[in-house]
Amino acid sequence: MLNTVLTALTLLTQRDSATLVARYRPIADRVIAAATADSAAYRRLAELVDRFGHRLSGSESLERAIDWTLEQMRRDGLQNVRGEPVMVPHWVRGQEQIELLTPTRRRLPMLGLGGSIATPPGGITAEVLVVSSFEELERRAADAKGRIVLFDVPFTNYGQTVQYRRNGAVAAARAGAVASLIRSVTPYSMRTPHTGSMAYDSLVPRIPHAAITVEDAMVLHRIQDRGQRPVVRIEMSAQTLPDAPSRNSVAELVGREKPNEVIVLGGHMDSWDVGTGAMDDGGGAVASWEAVRLLQQLGLRPRRTLRVVLWTNEENGLAGGNAYRDAHAAEIDRHELAIESDAGVFAPRGFGFSGSDSALQIVRWISALLEPIGADSISRGGGGADIGPIMARGVPGMGLEVDGSRYFWYHHSDADTVDKLDPVEMAKCVAALAIMAYVVADLDHPLPRGAPSATR
Ligand SMILES: [Zn+2]
Repeated sequence: MLNTVLTALTLLTQRDSATLVARYRPIADRVIAAATADSAAYRRLAELVDRFGHRLSGSESLERAIDWTLEQMRRDGLQNVRGEPVMVPHWVRGQEQIELLTPTRRRLPMLGLGGSIATPPGGITAEVLVVSSFEELERRAADAKGRIVLFDVPFTNYGQTVQYRRNGAVAAARAGAVASLIRSVTPYSMRTPHTGSMAYDSLVPRIPHAAITVEDAMVLHRIQDRGQRPVVRIEMSAQTLPDAPSRNSVAELVGREKPNEVIVLGGHMDSWDVGTGAMDDGGGAVASWEAVRLLQQLGLRPRRTLRVVLWTNEENGLAGGNAYRDAHAAEIDRHELAIESDAGVFAPRGFGFSGSDSALQIVRWISALLEPIGADSISRGGGGADIGPIMARGVPGMGLEVDGSRYFWYHHSDADTVDKLDPVEMAKCVAALAIMAYVVADLDHPLPRGAPSATR
């Protein structure tokens, strides 16, 4: 009896899957053809970054880029276009430099880390203690006092290696260091330093914290291994100013049957203050926007509303994601899904999904429509920093997954420019985002909510 029921359920499931794919296949194929017919998304991204350059929270360039984006969204004919106000942190780098004084004298490329304090005027001159890990620093804590600690830690994966960028200043200051340096968080370097956010601890003295290149970290390490003590002088004039006004850029394709039920998709508009933030995350922002513009252009209006949100302040505060959660608290339960593209717009592979097992099953059916562009992989877990706050309130989340082999080469550096991206790959990202968002927004029933099963 049980077997019969199970067989019936399996057949039903298979039929649902086949029905869904058959129903949406012609639409998906149209979207793929239209997205890949030209380089519209890439051209729009190039215009954004050529006109406005990098876009750190609090900067004039970010606000002008948001003005331009809202204006273009209106011209696209999208609905309910608006900038939703957010107060954001305002850190400015100012002048900064590092010079190796002993055993030879030369300037090194350097980037202060976001949120770092300045050095005193005239800088800090001290011997460098090079360590390969937090554990080594603990063992050699007696040697760190009064020195500049350099964490020369090779890249393994971002989550592991970024700990030194985030927590290096606290660990070094705890050991009595006067400043801290990291080897840039990247697996590949052409002597370009990489910036990013960092943290202080209110119980530990604040010391300046900066990144040097992989190459120079290795130089200092070799000097130490030869029994010499390298000496450097660091000067930084970074400041944290009062919070500044910014906006999340929002536009909609209003649903034809259930306009109050929402699928959010987006990337973040802000970037670090180096390069042009083309890959991180101008590409994800423009691809999400283009996905909705394309659906509108094709006359494809799903049952529920598609809402593009181009977040502000992902890089150093998440004020945009938090402000959205608070401003939309009353309609969080009507958010069926939130999608983020913040891993670069290289060749798409599929999506990571965080939500219930039954929702995961439906998303897997939909992904069959993305097979022609190689984006049909669905992995468990995924989302994005900006949608994190609404995911924490129960909204299923999804992150676009792409070929990540080159992402961290350019991430948060002067090399994050649009030429690193490929128009065809970006167009496929647009198609993947458009199809996934459209089909979820058009399903007979909302994605079932709930936690995933414990088996991971
Ligand atoms: Zn990003």
